[in-house]
Amino acid sequence: MVVITLQREKCIGCNYCAEFSPEYFRMSKKDGKSVLLRSTEKKGFHIVKTPLNDAYEPNKKAADACPVKIITVKDV
Ligand code: SF4
Repeated sequence: MVVITLQREKCIGCNYCAEFSPEYFRMSKKDGKSVLLRSTEKKGFHIVKTPLNDAYEPNKKAADACPVKIITVKDV
């Protein structure tokens, strides 16, 4: 199980996550911030849990590239 989280409010809209992991991240046309697709929100954290192991690699790249470090990826 791969768990991805995004602390969306702190996003500065650089677009790196959407480039590295387009199946999980899109930039919002409304506010210019990143959207974690199919996520649920809890206290400002947007969360996706997926059984797909190939979700780890691209999202880890997105997390490493994020300049404000608001993405986490865990293989649990
Ligand atoms: S990499 Fe980080 S700051 Fe840049 S758009 Fe994605 S979440 Fe926002």
